[in-house]
Amino acid sequence: MASTNESELEILEFWKRNKVFEKSLKGKKKSYVFYDGPPFATGLPHYGHLLASTIKDTIPRFWTMKGYKVERVWGWDCHGLPIENIVEKKLGFKNKKDIEGMGVEKFCEECEKTVTHYVHDWESFIERLGRWVDFDNSYKTMDLDYMESIWWAFKEIWNKGLIYEGRKVLMYCPRCETPLSNAEIAMDNSYREVTEPSIIAKFKITGKKEYLLAWTTTPWTLIGNVALAVKSEAEYVKVKNNNEIYILVSDRLSELNGEYKILESFKGKSLFGLHYEPLYELSSEKKAYQVIDDSEGVTTTDGTGIVHMAAYGEFDYSMIKKFDLPLIEHVGPDGKLRQGPKEWIGKWFKNLDKEVISELSKRNLTYKVQNNKHSYPFCCRCETPLFYSPLPSYFINIQKVKEKILKNNEKINWYPDHLKEGRFKNNILNAPDWNISRNRYWASAIPIWKCSCGEIKVIGSIQELKENALNFPKKIDLHKPTMDKVKLKCKCGKDMVRTPEVLDCWFESGAMSFAQVHYPFENKKWFDENFPGDFVAEYIAQTRTWFYYMLALSTILFNKEPFKNVVTTGTILARDGEKMSKSKANFSDPMEIIEKYGSDALRFYLLSNPIMTAEDLKFSEKGVEDVHKKVILILTNALNFYILNSSGKEADLKNKTLLDEWILSRLAETGYEINNFMNKYDTISTAKEITKFVDDLSTWYVRRSRERFNDGDADVARTVLKTVLHDFSIILAPMLPFISEKIYLTIQGKKESVHLEEWLSFSKKEINLEIQEKMINVRRVASEALMLRDKEKIAVRQPLQSITSNFKFDDECKEIIMEELNVKKVIFDSKIKELILDTKLTPELEAEGFAREIARKIQAERKARNMKKEQRIELKLFVSDKLHNMIVTYEEFICKRVGSKKIKFVDEKNKNLVLFEIKEEKIGFHF
Ligand SMILES: [Zn+2]
Ligand SMILES: [Zn+2]
Repeated sequence: MASTNESELEILEFWKRNKVFEKSLKGKKKSYVFYDGPPFATGLPHYGHLLASTIKDTIPRFWTMKGYKVERVWGWDCHGLPIENIVEKKLGFKNKKDIEGMGVEKFCEECEKTVTHYVHDWESFIERLGRWVDFDNSYKTMDLDYMESIWWAFKEIWNKGLIYEGRKVLMYCPRCETPLSNAEIAMDNSYREVTEPSIIAKFKITGKKEYLLAWTTTPWTLIGNVALAVKSEAEYVKVKNNNEIYILVSDRLSELNGEYKILESFKGKSLFGLHYEPLYELSSEKKAYQVIDDSEGVTTTDGTGIVHMAAYGEFDYSMIKKFDLPLIEHVGPDGKLRQGPKEWIGKWFKNLDKEVISELSKRNLTYKVQNNKHSYPFCCRCETPLFYSPLPSYFINIQKVKEKILKNNEKINWYPDHLKEGRFKNNILNAPDWNISRNRYWASAIPIWKCSCGEIKVIGSIQELKENALNFPKKIDLHKPTMDKVKLKCKCGKDMVRTPEVLDCWFESGAMSFAQVHYPFENKKWFDENFPGDFVAEYIAQTRTWFYYMLALSTILFNKEPFKNVVTTGTILARDGEKMSKSKANFSDPMEIIEKYGSDALRFYLLSNPIMTAEDLKFSEKGVEDVHKKVILILTNALNFYILNSSGKEADLKNKTLLDEWILSRLAETGYEINNFMNKYDTISTAKEITKFVDDLSTWYVRRSRERFNDGDADVARTVLKTVLHDFSIILAPMLPFISEKIYLTIQGKKESVHLEEWLSFSKKEINLEIQEKMINVRRVASEALMLRDKEKIAVRQPLQSITSNFKFDDECKEIIMEELNVKKVIFDSKIKELILDTKLTPELEAEGFAREIARKIQAERKARNMKKEQRIELKLFVSDKLHNMIVTYEEFICKRVGSKKIKFVDEKNKNLVLFEIKEEKIGFHF
């Protein structure tokens, strides 16, 4: 028999050969629009992609079967730092100077080549997973058409007055020399615990022998200090300690070493305007080096209640602006010191920490130096420590459109729904203006041209560029190298040049809904009719990025929500709960898992897990193995059972038994529930229904019907089983595309593939609750009685006289119970409290027990010899004299079961005998 892997590979071949995916898109009028969030093609696919791909395949398969045309075009995110960093690493580049040295044009060419490097690996991985997607027509964010749509959007937003150029304090990577957005930093969890020296520095009050104590975890910023801030209403104290006089907030006296004496206490505001001597004098402006009021920013829960201000703090820049203090950027954009003590010029900012500490200590200007454990952000691309920097950048004014963004969020159906009013809404509420410019190379050029006279022109299409360019390029390309060369004519007569920045690549992925169809230059009618899309899915971190940027852009451009339904998954962690990491080897290769258990098992494991409601999942191979065992193999066994018994004619289903009625009712119920759950994007509940039904089908229906397949009732049983397998394969298809196909093809469904079938809708009328209730009671009594047998150590093969129950069963139910429990009678007695199993063995019962046991041994031997069901044998049997008469009465019983005409009793000495013992009686057979 083929392994799961082999059988799945065959089905993949079948789909490919017969173009089943393409066929599933044909002949349908209504669209169900699916948007694929573009992954970066910067590495091989991992579990995260596998998770996303699973849900991105399951939901479209469902809506396809419901009669919709669900196009699934693949997208590639091609631009931005991820690609640039790969190229830099490959070329051994250390910083931007290396790129400029090589030439931006060559560098971008190299990036373009690298983008497609992993495409093939992706395709084969996604295909093996069973995800249907159109790679041939995939969109790339670096395509000319795509980029033109981006320009169109940029100009629209510009014309609405929502783009401005300003300085804002942003997280900045001094190696990549570009700001990063908070979202980018938060998304990849770029904060790490580090232990670094922190310092309480002494700032001498001008003209006095008194010091203000200020604490910082970034000593290198002390070089550019311009002010100290206090909280106006907080209580500050002047203390004598170590023979010196210090000022700090009274809540933080614990920072002092040794004994101290409080000399005076006062409100923070009485310190305002106080001048102090700078540690490093870089400014001669009078306003610098004073105490200022920052009641919001200063806390009294850490440090000293006196905060040192420099250009490189998250809130400092706003204070510097507010108090009109000098802006000293003593560290350059390359992260190296450019202003300060001569001997340190050119040093890397992080290396300045220890220089500053030792130099200030020599001058007796440090109060305390300690190692401090805190979390610090690193560049998610190159792992360089970041710092805050007040950078000139272009922004989209999110604050102006926030109300509308919130309103459009109301229209989206979130799964799980708590994200809508919870995490996602909070992200919107807290969203800063969107920094859309990057000081990098490989991305869409920002279409802003400027003139020295102050005139600004924004271009929104290639045609418009042609009309305005002095030197329109021979080969049009909207990337930086080509666009940097293009000049426009200004009204004033001078040349306009392009602003050097490129666009944040999140702007591009956020624009995929319209840019992938080159809107509005092409497909305008289609887009207008099909926007918003119906469905997107990604993992939880995208609530900050892709989902958010999609919504922000569609609100500004169309004042609509971008998609109607969104499924948000959690994050897959390694089995130890840590991030999956190659160096820790804490996870198995996804391909190995697929080869071992199949894609179906892996998909079902994920779809049935709370990870589908945005919770994290510790990936467990055992979990996949369980699904393989409990769902895939059991279904395979049920199918094999059908194949074994498939010869025969179809029967009229008028003569259904209770068991038949029951399984058909359960099928209808399962189909009905699954339809409801799938409509709500709830794959967890769908998976539960499937598991329950698989169990009912195999451990009850098929098992209880085995005998029927041997007698006159066989045609009915077979026909019912076929109907069930057929219908169930259709219901299974979106969640388990392989095994469902295998079942459907094996039982010869009418269509070419189960995935070309129409979805089955069951009505409540088809569910027979009365029968289901009956069967629940039958199964309850059966399982209780089996436990009693177990307790008494009486095998099920040993028939017993009766069970007595206080539940009144009808004859059909009694029949099932008698067969299941191997008892001769089911008795009703309303007076008893619990089930009674009569365990007395009469000689007849004992004889039947022997007969059944012997028959079973022989059947097992037949199976071991791979004998076909219809193959006859000539049974030779040895039994003791004591058993002989017993067995003779059961000759027909045994013969029917093992396929022999009669029994030939033989002597023990017959050397061919297979010998065994039952209840210490020696028995032997051969055939
Ligand atoms: Zn970096
Ligand atoms: Zn001009």
